[in-house]
This record gives sequence, structure tokens and C-alpha cells, in this order.
Amino acid sequence: MKKYKDMSKDELLTLKAALLEEYKEEQAKGLSLNMARGKPGFSQLALSMGMLDEINSSSDMRTLLGNDTRNYGDLDGIGECRQLMADMMEVKKENIIVYGNSSLNVMYDTVSRSMTHGVNGSTPWCKLDKVKFLCPVPGYDRHFKITEFFGIEMINIPLLEDGPDMDLVEEYVNNDPAVKGIWCVPKYSNPTGIVYSDEVVRRFAVLKPAAEDFRIFWDNAYCIHHLYKDKQAEILNILDECEKAGNPDMVYMFASTSKITFPGSGIAALATSPRNVEFIKKQLTVQTIGHDKINQLRHTRFFKNIDGMKAHMDKHADILRPKFEAVLNEFDKELAGLEIGSWIRPVGGYFISFDALEGCAKKIVAMCKDAGVVLTGAGATFPYGKDPKDSNIRIAPSFPSVEEMEAASKIFVLCVKLVSIDKYLG
Ligand code: PLP
Repeated sequence: MKKYKDMSKDELLTLKAALLEEYKEEQAKGLSLNMARGKPGFSQLALSMGMLDEINSSSDMRTLLGNDTRNYGDLDGIGECRQLMADMMEVKKENIIVYGNSSLNVMYDTVSRSMTHGVNGSTPWCKLDKVKFLCPVPGYDRHFKITEFFGIEMINIPLLEDGPDMDLVEEYVNNDPAVKGIWCVPKYSNPTGIVYSDEVVRRFAVLKPAAEDFRIFWDNAYCIHHLYKDKQAEILNILDECEKAGNPDMVYMFASTSKITFPGSGIAALATSPRNVEFIKKQLTVQTIGHDKINQLRHTRFFKNIDGMKAHMDKHADILRPKFEAVLNEFDKELAGLEIGSWIRPVGGYFISFDALEGCAKKIVAMCKDAGVVLTGAGATFPYGKDPKDSNIRIAPSFPSVEEMEAASKIFVLCVKLVSIDKYLG
């Protein structure tokens, strides 16, 4: 296939006319497809329905230690659920606090507490003139919304194929005391699907922050969310590495079972050093009497242990893999070699990230919408919703069916081609 940049004006115009015909045919089908949100599909949710049978009116409601889950107690989670989340996050049980059903809520709380009460006794961030966060981009829009909500200045850090640009991270963190945190999705990142290398994790652990209350917000949302049995990414354990490097308190790790059981009714957890756990629990005792322990019991009885959870994730992978491949195969078939976009083949997580030619993302998203395909808004993957190059588009293949993903991908590549031609035509 000839690269668009090597085509003459006439060639581009002829191609455009043919593609426009195809686009109009697609438009006439009146499709309504949504690739905007990383939601599990119906059949994925069905995988966990058996969990609801684990507890009924004649069930023994006690934990392994004999505590009654219907009553007060176990503020930081029932023992067996803390153990399960610890095994999932590859940390020790003493590092874990189990929360409610949303890890995003825990992240919000963590920033909020730091604003009002500081970090382990440091000056509350709200009393400082300036608080800054580093934001590897493209990244997760809801992280950026939290820091924006609290008026924290966000600094873009390019996300490379093995993690954030660590030269830049070191420069900011080690020199600027206003830099208090960084958002990280270390495994199967949202949206690029990249995995942090061991070197990147080690460089994080040995940071020498100018601010003693600097924290790494390590959102391991996709820690066991592999797509292929023979390509399962492993990352170094950041808590262990930080401890070895003499920075034991520098990281908060987050995860949940939102995309394992139910996003509407899962289990979220925070993992951090015992010193941080102690400080956080002082707030927790004021904040709540406790979270939903019956749901914790349901989860632990359903999975039994981490092996049960991993076997369950294999079933998710079987459902998700063909949807990812529907998109990637269409990209390979229709876009490879044209040099009008680039993408990474994720082997886990929930997203495919596409980088269009500069200045084309918004137009592609709008054109897809006009043909019935809804994508995440262009720019959403950057702080303040502003992609400086207007090039990144996030695709979420999990919710539609495989057939719908095939149809949507077809429209997507058509729009990429048409908008790119227009760019070259000027
Ligand atoms: N973190 C990342 C990186 C995500 O992509 C998502 C959801 O898409 C979440 C957190 C949300 O997690 P939860 O449902 O536990 O709030």
C-alpha cells in the first residue's frame, strides 16, 4: 500500500471519493455502537453470578475467625478478604486496607486527606501555595479529574513503551518540593496497555524526592487482567523495591475487583507501608464504621483463594481477546504501512490506544460519531482534557460484541483515512 504522504493530490482526491462512498454506506446502516467506556460486557458480568449464591438466608455469616459479618467490626476488612486482596496485589496482608467497591473512591480519599490533613503529619497540602502532580500521558482521565478537582497543577510526562520518561520524573521529583505525587498505571496502562519495565520500577523506588510527603499513586487496576495465557506481564513489586531503597512509605498501591466480579459491587483495596496504614486508619475510624463485609465474604467464598481468582480471569480473557483482536486485525489489515497512525498491541487491560496524525483526533472522533460509533472524547486521556497534539484516541473494546467491534473498527479506520487525507490535502 502506498503511503498517503507519498501520494499526489490527484491520487488523494480519487481515494477520498471512493472512501467517502464507503463511509456513506456505513452511515446509512444507522449503527449505534459504543467504544467509549471500559465496561465489562454482559457475558463477563454473567461469569460472577454464582457469587450471589454463596450467601443466602441460611448461610453461616461468620468469618474464618468467627466474626459476624452482619455486625460492626473489622474496619479494615475481614481477614480472608484482606488476604485475598494481598495475594492479588502481591503484598503482605499487613499492608492491606479493604474498602468499599471503588478504588477510584480510595484514590480520591487519599488525595483529599493529604489536602486537609497532610501525609503522616506533614503540612496539609491545602496550606501550601502550590501543589503539583506528575501525569504520565496519555493516561486515565478519572485520575486527572481528581487532581483537577483539588486545584492541583498537573504536569504532563510522556509515557514511553516501558513506563513514564524517568529522566523527567527524576528531574521534577528530586528538585521541586511542590511535586507531591505522580499517577501511575504500571501494568496494562489505561489507555496504551504498556507495562512498566523492571528498570522503571527500580528508578521509581530510588527517587530522592525534594518533598518528604511525595507519594507514588500506583494504580494497579489491571494487575491480573491478562489477555493471553502465554503472555502474562510481570512487574517488580514497588512496595518491596521502595523498602529496599529506604523509601518504605513512598507508595500507595490501589486495586479493585471491579473488572473481576462487578464494577457496581466489587471490592477495592489500598496497599501501603505499615506506617502509612496506621496513619490512614486514624482517619478511617472517623470516616466510617466499616465497609460491606457481606460482600467481602461473598467474594472470598466464591474465589476460595488467588488461584480461584486467576482461573476466573482466564474466562474473562477468553471473552475479551476476540474483541481486542477484531480491532487490531482491522488496523493491521487497513492501516499498516500507511503511516497515518500508530498503535500498541496490548496483552492485557481494557484499552487500545491509537495515535492519529497531529491535529486529527477530534475530527476522527466526530466523524465516527456521525456514523454511529461513539468513542471516548479526544483529549480525555490528558490533564484538563487537552491533548497538545490532538492525536490520541482511546478505544474500549470490552462492552460491544465481537461483531459490533468488527463493524465499529471498520468505520474507525475509514474515518482515520478520510481525516488523514484531508490533512494532506491541506
Ligand atoms: N483505575 C484505572 C486505571 C481504571 O482504568 C479504572 C476504570 O476504568 C479504575 C481505576 C476504576 O476502578 P474502580 O472501579 O475500582 O473505581
